[in-house]
Amino acid sequence: MPYSVYNDMEYKILFKDQPVVIIDKDSLSCLDALKHIGIKALDRVIAVKVNGRPCDLSAAIEPESTVEPVYIDSQEGLDILRHSASHVMAMAVKELFPGVKVTIGPAIENGFYYDFDFERPFKEEDLPSIEERMEEIIQKDLPFRREEISSREAIDRFKSQGETYKVEIIEDIGAEKVSVYTQGSFSDLCRGPHIPATGRIKAFKLIKTAGAYWRGDEKRAMLSRIYGTAFEDRKVLKQYLQRIEDAKKRDHVKLGRQLDLFNTYDEIGSGMIVWHPKGGILRHLIEDFEVKEHLKRGYDIVKGPQILKTALWEKSGHFDHYRENMYFTEIDQQSYGIKPMNCLSHMLIYRSALRSYRDLPKRYFELGLVHRHERSGVLHGLTRVRAFTQDDAHILCTPEQLNDEIKGVLYFVKDVMAIFGFEYELEISTRPEKSIGSDDDWEKATNALIKAVEENSLPYTINEGDGAFYGPKIDVKLKDALERKWQCATVQCDFALPERFDLTYIDKDSIRRRPVMIHRVILGSIERFIGIMIEHYAGAFPVWLSPVQAKILTVTDRNIAYGEKVLRNLIEAGIRVEGDFRNEKLGLKVREAQIQKVPYALVIGDRESQDEGVTPRLRDGSNLSFMKEGEFINHIQEECKQRR
Ligand SMILES: [Zn+2]
Ligand SMILES: [Zn+2]
Repeated sequence: MPYSVYNDMEYKILFKDQPVVIIDKDSLSCLDALKHIGIKALDRVIAVKVNGRPCDLSAAIEPESTVEPVYIDSQEGLDILRHSASHVMAMAVKELFPGVKVTIGPAIENGFYYDFDFERPFKEEDLPSIEERMEEIIQKDLPFRREEISSREAIDRFKSQGETYKVEIIEDIGAEKVSVYTQGSFSDLCRGPHIPATGRIKAFKLIKTAGAYWRGDEKRAMLSRIYGTAFEDRKVLKQYLQRIEDAKKRDHVKLGRQLDLFNTYDEIGSGMIVWHPKGGILRHLIEDFEVKEHLKRGYDIVKGPQILKTALWEKSGHFDHYRENMYFTEIDQQSYGIKPMNCLSHMLIYRSALRSYRDLPKRYFELGLVHRHERSGVLHGLTRVRAFTQDDAHILCTPEQLNDEIKGVLYFVKDVMAIFGFEYELEISTRPEKSIGSDDDWEKATNALIKAVEENSLPYTINEGDGAFYGPKIDVKLKDALERKWQCATVQCDFALPERFDLTYIDKDSIRRRPVMIHRVILGSIERFIGIMIEHYAGAFPVWLSPVQAKILTVTDRNIAYGEKVLRNLIEAGIRVEGDFRNEKLGLKVREAQIQKVPYALVIGDRESQDEGVTPRLRDGSNLSFMKEGEFINHIQEECKQRR
């Protein structure tokens, strides 16, 4: 809740609109203002917002300002805490490693980093000593002092310290004055704000080291980055570190190898996934599911080629706006672009016939393989790749249908996310700087998205300037079992491409009009979605998605004949089943099936052989009671039908 501070003759401070104290205006800092207001839990306040702008607690407050406290456990508070911790880390590193040069140290999601230029890269082994030195600096409770100096003076000061990166930054800013923050012997160029003093850091941890280019530019110096995090107290930090540990156990690259789902090969190229048999069937199951769900919702299934003439990419605007992410090739002196998106073929299908308002909406669906060049540094497992399949569709509709179509997509997302057990949040992104289309179209499209979301009564946030170059979009961020957010579904509105491709329909009044195009994906990239799914389920997929649903384990060789019969019958019934008839200890066979996360291990002993049935053992070690073969088949088929 904002509080008002204003000046009529003297400073008055209002608390819930009631003047409570009148004080000497000469000594009024933001902290004083908060004290006089009587803000509760002042020890948890680490900064302040003045007229909505974050400030240091020590900053002087202007008359007529509105102030509100920033608490340490709010998102803004954590960002300020973590960023301040990066200053402390830089100070510790400078003290421990003479000759190191500092660059920048921002807060990021869940933590902070600082990039250093040193004669050698920092290693994990360096972190304990840096942490120890940080702890000493924190114990000293050094205040963060802010000063505003001329850029000239700042350049001289950082030059004399050999901090050439800082000099470069100040020269780039090109402002008359800059602000410098100092704690103890360490000064850093920074906008602020910061915590009042180093002692406010109660819980921090350095996480890892990595390489990073200065300003992300591969042609510039390779720097050494140290990642860390800080939280409001030790308990929350401990919970976070536990979540990181849990995430490591669920890492989809590790599980992908353990379950033999996929791999990448240097000989093929980085960021290109090769699906092994178990991953291949998993993909197939998801794609099959997608086709059924799309057909149910009135989509047509289409398919375009992998490479299209470059001239067409020029026409669509991709060549101008997306070229650096595309691959090109030449055949018979003709330049082709490998598709990074599936839109173009779909538009040509639409344009292949005369369309009437009665034909609309048209919903074209394609499981489209696209190639996008990503920098090698960002490639990771299935989540950042260079070739992936989108569950992509383009809906062409009249402007009047736009709202219903977007709502339909949002319902689709809701149904699918419920099946996979993901919660999600929505973000609406508006016009970016680099974009095509008129202001009017952008406004119409943005309003259509907001209206559809509001009519679905879904909460959303706005991302200013983060839209695609051809239109605004809704991004769906799903939350996995570890509360991590992943971007999957998007719904993008597009008034520009139908114009460029001269798409039309004949309206009721016989006049040719432009349809609106919606680009949308539900799961997004199948590769990425499977990566997220592996981590979400920790590799233990629900029965309907398990590459192997049941494994038959014989107790002794006497049971092989019956085991083989069960195997044949289950395969016949469409169940994905494997047999382990080796002459090995049963315990070993059971353990191996568990490591493979097979939902049902069917132990076949003498009783099962005699009574012609199975005793299913579950992944968690519990057992179902003995059942006849047919009963088990029904049981598993019912689970698949329910998508469990
Ligand atoms: Zn700073
Ligand atoms: Zn598209």
